[in-house]
Amino acid sequence: MAFAVTSSSTAISGSSFSRSGPSSDPKALQICSFRLSDLSHVSQRRHSIKSLKAESHTRNASLVPRASTLVTPEVEEKEEDVEDFEQLAKKLEEASPLEIMDKALQKFGSNIAIAFSGAEDVALIEYARLTGRPFRVFSLDTGRLNPETYRLFDAVEKQYGIRIEYTFPDAVEVQALVRNKGLFSFYEDGHQECCRVRKVRPLRRALKGLKAWITGQRKDQSPGTRSEIPIVQVDPVFEGLDGGVGSLVKWNPLANVEGVDVWNFLRTMDVPVNALHAQGYVSIGCEPCTRPVLPGQHEREGRWWWEDAKAKECGLHKGNIKKEDDTTADLAPAIVHDIFESNDVVALTRGGIENLLKLGNRKEPWLVVLYAPWCPFCQAMEASYVELAEKLAVKGVKVAKFRADGDQKEFAKQELQLGSFPTILLFPKSAPRAIKYPSEHRDVDSLMSFVNLLR
Ligand code: SF4
Repeated sequence: MAFAVTSSSTAISGSSFSRSGPSSDPKALQICSFRLSDLSHVSQRRHSIKSLKAESHTRNASLVPRASTLVTPEVEEKEEDVEDFEQLAKKLEEASPLEIMDKALQKFGSNIAIAFSGAEDVALIEYARLTGRPFRVFSLDTGRLNPETYRLFDAVEKQYGIRIEYTFPDAVEVQALVRNKGLFSFYEDGHQECCRVRKVRPLRRALKGLKAWITGQRKDQSPGTRSEIPIVQVDPVFEGLDGGVGSLVKWNPLANVEGVDVWNFLRTMDVPVNALHAQGYVSIGCEPCTRPVLPGQHEREGRWWWEDAKAKECGLHKGNIKKEDDTTADLAPAIVHDIFESNDVVALTRGGIENLLKLGNRKEPWLVVLYAPWCPFCQAMEASYVELAEKLAVKGVKVAKFRADGDQKEFAKQELQLGSFPTILLFPKSAPRAIKYPSEHRDVDSLMSFVNLLR
């Protein structure tokens, strides 16, 4: 996800704005421990973006009399000196996102900002608005975002009367990366290098201007890597304004909220959302590294899908990843049953597929899927592949599968054009090289056309 913050010297100073909030009446929807109908009056509230040097970050009580009593019964307006964020996290474990947001803004004022990626974390901005306190929003423009994300940024600025504080990657670093490796090197050698240049370093630079930041991370987002997100913590990865370990605090008000509840909240509050969500995208990052997910799939499977699940954090939230020695249980693929089980699908051994590679003239064409049984995209195409195998059997085309994960992965990458799972290869009758199926449309008709045209 793309986040950034400008340094303190670039903040919008002393500007003020009013919000023409959504007119929808949320009626009596129950979100966490409070009723949204009780908060409808706060859409009339005025917000002001303070100078970064501004001292005051208390809310204007005359503007938010009910929210302050109904929503934050345990949050005191006086300054607290709570240094033990582990304790504070425990204390806030049962708190609603609104209470947590209020606490974070109250505690850090203009030294805290919301990280906005252009996805459903727009909920954070709505929660901040509901607190009635001034707030800052920042984002990273990696240069590779979807047009829909830029449109959402614009809609959010207009809806909330704010200016998002963007940070951009270092132009010289991007130039060097792209000139050396091309625009899509991440498909070849992993996303870390590109993410480091376009996201992590800009974020690091940006966070140096803050004492705390607020993210939209949730425990249910990424099994394994996000399962232990505290409500608030000393940032385990980045440094803040004062420098050194412990100089930055990270707040995760949505840590305990489930995705479905975030969406109910967004719908009820009539918050602008990314148009990509309507096209099946859930988790949204850069355009080349994000794709829609299938029904029932986990949202993080739409990100960097060509890589192992374990490597999916881009570096922004790496502190969530537990140490190797205690991760095995969480991150190792569960034992799964084999797939493409059919009499019409031949299971090739390493020797078998090496023979296919060697033969220039084959007795019949072969269609082979390189797969991993745990891969949801392989699982999703299982039925159509088996049906295809039945149809091709009568046409004299052999259909096969080769399990290409684990020990076979390097071989498959080197010799069989494996990029991501599933990879489908056609070994035509007389062509020496296998032809890789170039599309993600893996339905029977599309695959049948491919075979018929090239066999
Ligand atoms: Fe680069 Fe993809 Fe990372 Fe964006 S998500 S910075 S395009 S590797």
